[in-house]
Amino acid sequence: MQERNERLFYKLLIDNVEELLPIVYTPTVGEACQKYGSIFRRPQGLYISLKEKGRILEVLKNWPEKNIQVIVVTDGERILGLGDLGCQGMGIPVGKLSLYTALGGVRPSVCLPITIDVGTNNKKLLDDEFYIGLRQNRATGEEYAELLEEFMSAVKQNYGEKILVQFEDFANHNAFELLAKYRTTHLVFNDDIQGTASVVLAGLIAALKVVGGTLADHTFLFLGAGEAGTGIAELIALEISKKTDAPIEETRKKVWLVDSKGLVVSSRKESLQHFKQPWAHEHEPVKELIDAVQAIKPTVLIGTSGVGRTFTKEVVEAMASFNEKPIILALSNPTSQSECTAEEAYTWSKGRAIFCSGSPFDPVEYDGKILVPGQANNAYIFPGFGLGLIMSGTVRVHDDLLLAASEALAAQVTEEYYAKGLIYPPFSNIRKISANIAANVAAKSYELGLASRLPRPKDLVKHAESCMYTPVYRSYR
Ligand code: NAP
Ligand code: MN
Repeated sequence: MQERNERLFYKLLIDNVEELLPIVYTPTVGEACQKYGSIFRRPQGLYISLKEKGRILEVLKNWPEKNIQVIVVTDGERILGLGDLGCQGMGIPVGKLSLYTALGGVRPSVCLPITIDVGTNNKKLLDDEFYIGLRQNRATGEEYAELLEEFMSAVKQNYGEKILVQFEDFANHNAFELLAKYRTTHLVFNDDIQGTASVVLAGLIAALKVVGGTLADHTFLFLGAGEAGTGIAELIALEISKKTDAPIEETRKKVWLVDSKGLVVSSRKESLQHFKQPWAHEHEPVKELIDAVQAIKPTVLIGTSGVGRTFTKEVVEAMASFNEKPIILALSNPTSQSECTAEEAYTWSKGRAIFCSGSPFDPVEYDGKILVPGQANNAYIFPGFGLGLIMSGTVRVHDDLLLAASEALAAQVTEEYYAKGLIYPPFSNIRKISANIAANVAAKSYELGLASRLPRPKDLVKHAESCMYTPVYRSYR
């Protein structure tokens, strides 16, 4: 339907967003990527392979739409939790951009899905006769960096300074590097790092209304110190730093991370990857999660390791033993990798946990009460965030814009939802939520002098709403 009647497709998607989100997005989009070669009919996006080196600008000019405002790009190396799917990862940029339009109201014609094909290390795909990409192992090092550099320059040359490039599902070694390299020269955003951080921070800010106190009163422990974990950790530390005027080096000490080798501590510093080093605090080495929980006594426990069943009964009971209302976020996807289920979190904490997850869980009845687990879905943030950047003509993404998005989302959670234990609003209101996020992001951007579209509209929420694409048929009468 997306190919044959775009307007109808978006009408259907907007009117049935809760039901259709799991199809255009995780988990169904993952299966579509796995089978992409055998269901391929027409390219829905632009493929740029190593063979196009030296003429990427020319390739970009082949795309029929000239006015592009958002690109979502992947190299397919870490598609959802499914690993390297090579250029079959195209389903992800296509799906994400559908959400830019449906949830954030960004016009479909200005969206461009791109997959960079540098090969794949997925043996099964290389042997598959229907694989649609280059049949070689992944290019790495200089060859990879040069292709990406040419791509980023060509994008700016072709579409100008204000083109938004969202990096999606790159493996973490490339993801952190690309973000660090291009954030000062391009309008770039990594949803796996920054979007995740913003949506989780929003949930935590909302949860404060239930547990009381400020973020600075809390201690955070993560299982998993990759893109999601360190991204969230950094935004929490930044928010506390803004709210308390304490330097971020100090506020980072409220946050602890456990990776596959145990607690990230200073004695490991030498051997730690760059992005983990700020989190290597003074502490004796701790190997197991349960021992780290006992030692750190966190008020908030966040799972971002991609490994399921790791928040055991012992771990949840420990959290409940020193917290009246333990905050437990099991973010690993898909459902099978969730650190614990909603039912386990509620049962083991005797109904006291504030729980949310990456993949959806059904409501749970505990002690005669219906408890509704929230879903920390990135789709709350990136469409509205992107709209805010576009409508204000923002030229760079600043971390303060991510904080503005989190605060706007948290503000959409009202009393009636808190009563059910929810720390995220329902998706049925997502276009209104996106408009509010866009407005808050744009407001911050104008304040920081990053917005180029002048004069600043007075009422930014109204302006956001007026910018949003709505799939209605034109009246010819
Ligand atoms: P990533 O960059 O690969 O990071 C994974 C981290 O987990 C690494 O630090 C790794 O340790 C650690 N780890 C792996 N196995 C472990 C184990 N057995 N015990 C302790 N730590 C272990 O992956 P990511 O992009 O951060 O994604 C992680 C998970 O978060 C995925 O399941 C993803 O679906 C989920 N996620 C959810 C949301 C959401 O809910 N909105 C958003 C983004 C991601 P080493 O560093 O030692 O290898
Ligand atoms: Mn992603």
